Amino acid sequence: MPRPLLVMKFGGTSVGSASAIRGAADLVARRADTHRLAVVVSAMSRVTDLILSTLEAAERGDAALVDEGIGRLRSTHEAACRALVPPGRASRVLDQIEGILDRLARVARGMLLLRERPPRAVDDAAPTGERLSALLLAETLRESGIPAANVAGSALIVTDATVGGAKPFLEETAENCGAVLGPLLAEGSVPVITGYGAAARDGTPTTLGRGGSDFSAAIIAASLQADELWIWTDVDGILSCDPRIAPEARLLREVTYNEAAELAYNGAKVLHPRTLAPLADRRIPVRIRNSFRPAGPGTRITGRHTERPGVRAITSLSQVALVSIEATGLSLYGAQLMARALAVAARAQVEVLLMTRSSFRQNFCMLVRSGDVEPVVEGLREDLAIELAHGYMLPIAVDHSVGLLAAVGEGMRGTPGLAGRLFTALSERNVNIIAIAQGSSELTIAIVVNATDLRTSVSAIHSECGLGRPASTPAAH
Ligand code: ADP
Ligand code: ASP
Ligand code: MG
Repeated sequence: MPRPLLVMKFGGTSVGSASAIRGAADLVARRADTHRLAVVVSAMSRVTDLILSTLEAAERGDAALVDEGIGRLRSTHEAACRALVPPGRASRVLDQIEGILDRLARVARGMLLLRERPPRAVDDAAPTGERLSALLLAETLRESGIPAANVAGSALIVTDATVGGAKPFLEETAENCGAVLGPLLAEGSVPVITGYGAAARDGTPTTLGRGGSDFSAAIIAASLQADELWIWTDVDGILSCDPRIAPEARLLREVTYNEAAELAYNGAKVLHPRTLAPLADRRIPVRIRNSFRPAGPGTRITGRHTERPGVRAITSLSQVALVSIEATGLSLYGAQLMARALAVAARAQVEVLLMTRSSFRQNFCMLVRSGDVEPVVEGLREDLAIELAHGYMLPIAVDHSVGLLAAVGEGMRGTPGLAGRLFTALSERNVNIIAIAQGSSELTIAIVVNATDLRTSVSAIHSECGLGRPASTPAAH
């Protein structure tokens, strides 16, 4: 019997400093005797933001800021390297760091020259942080006597060509994982794989979207038919609310794939929204754990539903906007307008988070992420150009001053009076409800409120549902 196969993913904070990288290596080392291990890493915390803002500076022609950005990346990673790798071996690793930064610098120089930021070039440069952190973790593992090999996610994960958030092809990815990772695992070496980055069939670099290293790890765990995936992060697991909004949020020891997926989709940053799909299909259990408090049990995500039905957690999304279209009279057929608007969103590959429609005034609203507003509005203007030009429709309206909150839990529909309680809790705090959706899933009630009311609403509902910890229990961070 081969040893069980465990995929471990380390998030940005969990590799965010030399001591965190050493801690991550220890967590890997602890399982090295009992498991076959594959590791997926994020960039050190804030590094991806710095890379993307450096490329924006390049597009603006700001050479000084580009130099500063690359300089900061160099000093952060060089300092970590010197702290982790003994002097005799450090110079070779420092050269590799320089090589990785050189690739970024070449992309940035091209952008400076052209005053353009081609999305393909951004996708090529964006996972630079992962290349650097994978290098450092693999070196640290070797220093502690664990054979480790640095592997690029782009050599494994095959995607379509969508810019900024590509869709993986699991079969081809599984073939690559078998070919590249199989021999490493068989010889007892730990592959340390860069998260976030992937490649299209023709080799063009792609990414899996911001926060996409979770998704990388899930794709790799699914491809390898791993026995389990552990996601190491900076909180004790999935909590009943974002602890930055409700510090009394409680650890959820077990959630279902469905609950975790709804939470992630509705804004719980602890998991990238697409992470669970490949795992749920294959029933691969996931654990979310705190790399800084590894003794904790974490959250286990499985297909079983063991908890009492009802609300388990509250999430929110602030970077959203309501896009509304409205006919001026009754001459346009409402269902057709809706169909056309949704077709526009589908063509632009934009996710509609929630929609509402009033049946008499032919008004239709779609809630979308702020970054998706432009393609949707452009598409609508194009598609409805004639109706808009002839005054059959009001100009397309966009309201950015809204936020979405969601209450999530299996079997919520079986909790009578729940929606009423949530609305009362909001109205007691003078929160105006702009839109609601329960949908046919029993899992989520979503509510749109004014952005300024979002935090109050989330904590009001969190406490109305009795989800917080008693005041004396220790904090989750
Ligand atoms: P990583 O870099 O490890 O991927 P992220 O910053 O992407 O970490 O995700 C972890 C963060 O998610 C936590 O620090 C926390 O602030 C935030 N978060 C939001 N909602 C939740 C929730 N319901 N449970 C746990 N963490 C949450
Ligand atoms: N480093 C990438 C990001 O910051 C991916 C990740 O952390 O998951 O978006
Ligand atoms: Mg993350």
